[in-house]
Amino acid sequence: AKAAGRGKHRLYEPSMHSEAAERQVMENDLRQAIERGELAVHFQPIVRAAGEEISGFESLVRWQHPTRGPISPSKFIPLAEEAGLIGKIGEWVLRTSLEEASNWPDHVRVAVNLSPLQFNDPSVVAMVSKHLNETGVRAERLELEITEGVFLAEGDTTDDTFAKLKALGVRLALDDFGTGYSSLGYLKKAPFDKIKIDQSFVRGAASATNRNAAIIRAIVTLAETLGMDTCAEGVETHDDLQLIRELGVSMVQGYIFGKPSPAETARELANSTTVH
Ligand code: C2E
Ligand code: CA
Ligand code: CA
Ligand code: CA
Repeated sequence: AKAAGRGKHRLYEPSMHSEAAERQVMENDLRQAIERGELAVHFQPIVRAAGEEISGFESLVRWQHPTRGPISPSKFIPLAEEAGLIGKIGEWVLRTSLEEASNWPDHVRVAVNLSPLQFNDPSVVAMVSKHLNETGVRAERLELEITEGVFLAEGDTTDDTFAKLKALGVRLALDDFGTGYSSLGYLKKAPFDKIKIDQSFVRGAASATNRNAAIIRAIVTLAETLGMDTCAEGVETHDDLQLIRELGVSMVQGYIFGKPSPAETARELANSTTVH
């Protein structure tokens, strides 16, 4: 019926029509993706910069579409947000991530991305608390990664949510730091435990100009002053790794230490780490 419709409704601008139709199809597919077992969570190691010890893993959702193949979360997460599906998908990712983390040694953390829409939902604290309790993962092992997008739709709930999540014991990380408009103000407002330095400052930092290095150095100083950890994202080369270490960044994440991989691989890696 969809294919026939495409030919019929030529009153519309053809490209606009097909884009809107395409979108609707994807949205319907995404609506059923969980039930159909098409979503998976992959895990990427986050390594202490000083040595090579795994501190934890970031969970990154994957969608294997039955006919289109793998679809990037950069594409379908925004779609999920617009279609009102992010709450359900995000909760599934959190639950799946915690279940997986319960198989890892107790010192290995799990970092889960939280959409601003999830964060600004008044039930988020109860939701997180429920899944921690049911999976038996200590709150201190869970790190929630949020972007400054949470502050854009700011209501009364935001400050309250930060306080309640901290009271639960979970850690908070400010993701994609440096890419927004006024991240410094947000650092003052919210009790973050970690700043994730965006890949755009990190990748190629050793080779390009020394501006990236200067910016990273400033972020590290700022974070240390505020008592926060730092994590450099997108480290791919030995030169960048060396620079990141010299600049005093505390954690490293990037292809140099491992791409996001399926749960079984992460489990082996997690269990091969030593307790510190
Ligand atoms: P992000 O949270 O900034 O995640 C880091 C992204 O960088 C991931 O892309 C990861 O695979 C990629 N990456 C890590 N190290 C390297 C590297 O060395 N080189 C390169 N080229 N890339 C690297 P991914 O998995 O495609 O995810 C893209 C974005 O989608 C994430 O960016 C995040 O904003 C969003 N996302 C992914 N999973 C979830 C989720 O479960 N919930 C929500 N709300 N958003 C998610
Ligand atoms: Ca992230
Ligand atoms: Ca990021
Ligand atoms: Ca990002």
